[in-house]
Amino acid sequence: DEAEWAEFDEVAAPEDAAPPAPQPVLAVVGRPNVGKSTLVNRLLGRREAVVQDTPGVTRDRVAYDALWNGRRFTVVDTGGWEPDAKGMMASVAAQAELAMHTADAVLLVVDARVGPTETEEAVARVLRRSQRPVLLAANKVDDERGLADVHSLWSLGLGEPMPVSALHGRGSGDLLDAVLAAFPETPREVFGASGGPRRVALVGKPNVGKSSLLNKLTGEERAVVHDVAGTTVDPVDSLVELDGEVWRFVDTAGLRKRVKTASGTEYYASLRTKSAIEAAEVAIVLVDASQPLSEQDLRVITMVVEAGRALVIAYNKWDLVDGDRRRQLEKEIDRELVRVRWAERVNVSAKTGRAVAKLAPTLRTALESWDTRVPTGRLNGWLNELVAAHPPPVRGGKQPKILFATQAQTRPPTFVLFTTGFLEAGYRRFLERKLRETFGFTGSPVRISVRVRE
Ligand code: GDP
Ligand code: GDP
Repeated sequence: DEAEWAEFDEVAAPEDAAPPAPQPVLAVVGRPNVGKSTLVNRLLGRREAVVQDTPGVTRDRVAYDALWNGRRFTVVDTGGWEPDAKGMMASVAAQAELAMHTADAVLLVVDARVGPTETEEAVARVLRRSQRPVLLAANKVDDERGLADVHSLWSLGLGEPMPVSALHGRGSGDLLDAVLAAFPETPREVFGASGGPRRVALVGKPNVGKSSLLNKLTGEERAVVHDVAGTTVDPVDSLVELDGEVWRFVDTAGLRKRVKTASGTEYYASLRTKSAIEAAEVAIVLVDASQPLSEQDLRVITMVVEAGRALVIAYNKWDLVDGDRRRQLEKEIDRELVRVRWAERVNVSAKTGRAVAKLAPTLRTALESWDTRVPTGRLNGWLNELVAAHPPPVRGGKQPKILFATQAQTRPPTFVLFTTGFLEAGYRRFLERKLRETFGFTGSPVRISVRVRE
């Protein structure tokens, strides 16, 4: 226990450990076949816009990072409106609602050759009521002749329709200019302090059930995934609605593939895991509850702690756990997971859906801890009392004094203690334990650094 803790004590917060800066979000909505995917590819500047609807593939919403005129933003493809059990209108309304809640601006794509349909009139009514800027793209205007079709779209009441040809690129530069102009100065802060949906990494060694869990979580969604061939560079994220809130699961492209490539070496898998963790604010580390906890599981947990991200440990395949395995598992937790005792554990089954509903509240708790700031006055009042009762051990005949403390950072909470002498690792761990007892920090790593004043 002692030796393991030491690993974490000395980890400095890397400069680049901060989560990515907030960037504005554009939601693209429209009926199936109007050319949304083609347009999204065009907006992302992909040379080859390959569009492929694969029926039956995992359905979810996807987000991509885009860059235009030096400004970064996120494009969310909310997928096609397909009638669900509640009918077409309910489905349209739900998609438009989601777009408004997640986005800083909404782009409605209409097939100019077809003109406004009843469905588009319905969504326009929803969008007109929203506080978001709405842009209207009149797609499939491939040439001058097509311009004649555009006028009919004024009737949607969303302002000037912008003629584009997603297929040939015509008008896409003007559309991008209009998108940037429509974004507010600062992106909205809807779901968290960082703006936009909060970022989650779903990580774990191979075969623990990451894809299965993602499928389970997105199973209810309506949008169709577009697997875009030949696009390897953009990390593709998934938007997942859990417990009434939208979350951004980062870098899930690999998890969505039906057939997994066997070529991924462990080295690449590990790099991938690392980059997903770094792009996220909170990580769900999935472990296989039916198997003994392994070195590889612990390594992934360590990566999360070292990256300073909030942590949730999900024991998957709980449907396979019997009494014997359960007793063994409790021993493993006591032995191997002491150093992350602060992380909440959830016992889930991607197969049966058991307890997956518990993930959202657990993620929220972890992020709240991660964002927590303890006011300096309160921190020092607490510290003075604690140190009076338990002073730091004497070293070389001298008693180090703790002069004061401050929380220098959140995400994760990072404390700096100013002292007159060295504080032993054991005492720092004691301070961390007491800090957690008083202020919580469930689900978040906490860092303590000591500055010795001569
Ligand atoms: P989505 O279902 O809205 O995502 O639509 P897709 O992007 O899959 O496009 C549907 C079909 O319309 C595909 O066959 C595209 O090639 C075609 N399409 C998309 N944009 C244009 C365009 O600007 N002009 C023409 N002529 N066809 C287009
Ligand atoms: P990944 O490599 O982490 O993405 O794992 P997969 O999602 O591909 O799952 C690996 C295997 O575990 C598959 O055969 C799944 O069907 C199975 N599996 C995943 N979750 C569960 C679960 O909750 N219970 C059971 N019994 N099997 C599961």
